[in-house]
Amino acid sequence: MKISVVKTTTPKAKPDQSNLGFGQFFTDHMFIMDYTEGKGWHDPRIVPYGPLEMDPSCAVLHYGQAVFEGMKAYRSPEGKVLLFRPEQNMARLNRSNARMSIPQFDEEFALKAIKELVMVDQDWIPTAPGTALYLRPFVIGCDNVLGVRASYKYKFIVILSPVGAYYKEGLNPVSIWVEPHYVRAVRGGTGYAKAAGNYAGSLLAQKNAQAQGYSQVLWLDGLERKYVEEVGAMNVFFNIDGELITPDLGDSVLPGITRKSVLQLLQSWNIPTVERRLSVEEIFQAHADGRLREAFGCGTAAVISPIGKLGWADKSIEIGGGKIGEISQRLYDTITGIQTGKLDDPFGWVVEVEG
Ligand SMILES: *Cc1c(COP(=O)(O)O)cnc(C)c1O
Repeated sequence: MKISVVKTTTPKAKPDQSNLGFGQFFTDHMFIMDYTEGKGWHDPRIVPYGPLEMDPSCAVLHYGQAVFEGMKAYRSPEGKVLLFRPEQNMARLNRSNARMSIPQFDEEFALKAIKELVMVDQDWIPTAPGTALYLRPFVIGCDNVLGVRASYKYKFIVILSPVGAYYKEGLNPVSIWVEPHYVRAVRGGTGYAKAAGNYAGSLLAQKNAQAQGYSQVLWLDGLERKYVEEVGAMNVFFNIDGELITPDLGDSVLPGITRKSVLQLLQSWNIPTVERRLSVEEIFQAHADGRLREAFGCGTAAVISPIGKLGWADKSIEIGGGKIGEISQRLYDTITGIQTGKLDDPFGWVVEVEG
């Protein structure tokens, strides 16, 4: 398939790099391709960024048949354009598609299209420390019919957004509220997919946590509400006595690419890691025994987000004196160093995009 390109005649002014926030500005172009049952994916095109025309009966607006990805492009000190493990995002998007009854796409072709789009808008890649060009591929069901069934038509779209640090606080530790009632995902549900509805369902708990002065929630398992699963939209690690523990991947935990990279890095540093069930009870006990050293969330947006305080029912604990832990800092420096081409890439994670 050949990707057609129509360039904008009215390029926008680039935003101030010191005040990008997250996902607030969008570049000049976007990628779109269509799917029609019987015809498959077709008409791949790079076009000026702008509104989509949609019928009010469009399936995605009613039953949420939508999946997405989040990845970043970086500008290396030598001026190269770099992506981080992008083939992993394409594979995961197809797994999310499978869960939401959306047809599979050709991962190699989609990555080629994404690279082409990034090159068209490469002047939008910010260079200030902590910034990147965030890439948001997504797929939506587009049938104009109110029957509850999988669509026969879809759109695969990619938009790009120059972003700053995910949290205004930067690498400063955040406070996290253990959500006792609402759950993000259940066994047999859609938690392992980056499905749009998972995030809509999480907003109320997040709002409640914020009203109590916390920045995010720690999600517990849907069955017993005892075991830790994720923190906000990030995977989570706890350092207990020098062992780095993260919840094992069932079908309710999103298999993060940052999580996978963190595990590989820790193993390469001979730091013990374990993927297993971990109860909040155990975390609070470890803190009481003086064995809880650090805790952090990890994901593409924030990379590493240290947890400085954990609130649970009427208790609250401070972790690592409210400061970023040694391993958290080392992981952040190493991952961002590899992503931006400032450090060696011994794992072959980084892919250079060539124009
Ligand atoms: C995207 C996401 C993550 C992190 O995945 P990365 O591939 O590391 O960005 C973790 N949890 C949830 C719920 C997510 O949506």
